[in-house]
Amino acid sequence: MRRTVSIFGSTGSIGCNTVELLLLQGGAKIYDVKVVTGARNIQLLAEQAVLLNADMAVTADESRLETLIEALAGTGIVATAGSEALRDAAMTKVDWVMSAIVGSAGLTPTLEMAKQASVLALANKESLVCAGELIKATCAKSGCMLVPVDSEHCAIYQALAGGKQGDISRIILTASGGPFLDWTPEQMANATLEQAMAHPNWDMGQRISIDSATMFNKALEVIEAHQLFDVSATQIEVVVHPQSIVHSMIEYNDYSVIAQLAAPDMRGAIGFALNWPERQPLPIEQLDFGTMSRLDFATPDEIRFPALRLARRVLEIGGLAGAVFNAAKESALDRFISGDIGFLDMARLVETVLENLHVKAGQSSSLDGLEAVMTFDREARTMGQNWMPK
Ligand code: NAD
Ligand code: MG
Repeated sequence: MRRTVSIFGSTGSIGCNTVELLLLQGGAKIYDVKVVTGARNIQLLAEQAVLLNADMAVTADESRLETLIEALAGTGIVATAGSEALRDAAMTKVDWVMSAIVGSAGLTPTLEMAKQASVLALANKESLVCAGELIKATCAKSGCMLVPVDSEHCAIYQALAGGKQGDISRIILTASGGPFLDWTPEQMANATLEQAMAHPNWDMGQRISIDSATMFNKALEVIEAHQLFDVSATQIEVVVHPQSIVHSMIEYNDYSVIAQLAAPDMRGAIGFALNWPERQPLPIEQLDFGTMSRLDFATPDEIRFPALRLARRVLEIGGLAGAVFNAAKESALDRFISGDIGFLDMARLVETVLENLHVKAGQSSSLDGLEAVMTFDREARTMGQNWMPK
């Protein structure tokens, strides 16, 4: 029996790597691919659907449905479009699903995946940040196994083989520090979009690359770690590790530290999740310890990178503060990308929105349901769009 799989966000950076690994591991001979999805790059989406012999291709962008139908003419592959279609496609029962849509747009489909998939490979960290309790409760009810794809959380997941979750004393998340690690605040204030996108180690999508430059990505990951491994804010430490070789570590209560190391290549974490609970050889570079002269670690500068402080504030507020934080961050990012606000304004915007909504958000929970989450998402986004730099 072939294994049934779907890939949401297949045309993105994580999605393309996932397609590559599926093909490398036998493609349609081994995997019965149900769904692939994208948004704007219809040509690529159609190519992937054909290569994997998928049943269905979905574009989030309804205006591109005609183009998708034309690109798939004669293949027998069903083409659909829009957010409802994405949600319906996520209800298709599969053995393994990759959730790799970027941003909170991934939340509704991810929740459907959690209801039906045997294994949910989760790259879309935003859904855990916005609605962690709801996703976890849904998985617990359906029996869906959640395997983290974010490299740090995948590392911690692997390091958990060395002890029990209840014996964790600290989780140490590594951060590359991004392209502005050694920049002055003045330089950062004037950083351009191109400079913010130029990540030194990882080749990623545009939005997560900029989030790495502000360290908002690490802030999301602190909240993600709290959701996945049931650790408090004080048990999560971030260290800057510019080589991105140690992907993260667990310190157990006897102060023994278990780390996971590998080359900085997302195919490592994606392949781990794809083959879990087995392991398979992957097309990633082997580490050469003879030539690796050093591994550096340093405490991050929270004055230049306030996102980390804001992540702890989110955990302190609790409730739906994560949904507010993520939406404010997404609107700040949109405004930076469009040239409307400066690089350092992003954190100022997020902090203002978070403080404006903290009382209300703290009294709610994602267990109140998806609509509650979406209401905070919309409110925070609107506030973010209207925020004015001083
Ligand atoms: P990307 O921008 O390269 O790709 C995003 C995918 O989502 C594309 O397929 C795109 O078509 C689709 N998409 C965009 N907007 C959409 C919308 N409104 N509705 C539905 N689909 C939409 O992003 P990426 O870098 O591959 O990241 C995907 C997810 O994985 C993010 O949540 C990111 O935080 C996470 N992640 C990425 C990396 C990485 O190395 N790229 C590492 C860890 C975690
Ligand atoms: Mg990561």
